[in-house]
Amino acid sequence: MPVSQLPGPLVYATPLRTRFRNLDVRDGVLIRGDSGWGEFSPFWDYDDAESAAWLRAARESADRGWPTPVRTRVPVNVTIPAVGPDVARSLVLGSGGCTTAKVKVAQAGQSVDEEIARLEAVRDALGPTGRIRVDANAAWDLDEALRRLPLLDRAAGGLEYAEQPCPDVADLAALRRRQSVPIAADESIRRAADPLAVRRAEAADVVVLKVQPLGGVRACLELAEAVGLPVVVSSALESSVGIAAGLALAGALPELPYACGLATVHLLERDAVATPLLPEGGTMPVLRADELSPLADGGAGATTTERWLERLARVAEVAA
Ligand SMILES: [Mg+2]
Repeated sequence: MPVSQLPGPLVYATPLRTRFRNLDVRDGVLIRGDSGWGEFSPFWDYDDAESAAWLRAARESADRGWPTPVRTRVPVNVTIPAVGPDVARSLVLGSGGCTTAKVKVAQAGQSVDEEIARLEAVRDALGPTGRIRVDANAAWDLDEALRRLPLLDRAAGGLEYAEQPCPDVADLAALRRRQSVPIAADESIRRAADPLAVRRAEAADVVVLKVQPLGGVRACLELAEAVGLPVVVSSALESSVGIAAGLALAGALPELPYACGLATVHLLERDAVATPLLPEGGTMPVLRADELSPLADGGAGATTTERWLERLARVAEVAA
């Protein structure tokens, strides 16, 4: 039986190569439908109600497939975790030709000097024409962001944008008015009751959309239209099955002016498919959900497998 004919659901689990988003392991479940494979992998701090959107996204992939794309390849950025300058440099150089880097900042326990060293190393590796953005994951208040962004902007030789420097939409709006680095909203869209508040408050120049937490490719296309700002599609650190849904969204957006954050499979020690989706020439391909071939063994032990199948059943009840 070819692997693409596996019945599903298939649970996968893999260590991360570098601790990221305070995770050491990434796991999830792959479900199969008439249109192909879908990934359901809400982080464990999402409750069943919040995970329902993630299940809608997985079911869209598996049961319905994705809208017709308008492009065949998507430019992607390399993601640089809160690592030292030498590792940062080698991640850029080994990124498969990415000319944009997203650099994690505001890591607990790290100083601004460490961030500056990381940004300088990334600029050095990318060269003068590369683009650099930072992601603070909502860690700063307004004053801290006003202090830090000019320093980081200078160290990077110019920032493309700063992703979610502050948690509050009102603070993002104030920050946007009071300094020159463009602002991208991520958490303010993804975990907000009202994602359009960003638009009303003029709090961002760019919005980051993630397929699973926002309930699927079509839901994201509708949200993008309603928000009316440039979109950067990012991953939720999925296996290649979830990444393919992100590529489907990026492939279907009418405009795509920025590189997307979908080159994250290399952060996993083991992917859930035989041929991982990695960048070549700084871009990644737009596929159909039936072109994915999960491995028969996702590497999850019995306990993890049982935990995911129970979670899938619970969330399916919430989502019904
Ligand atoms: Mg982010």
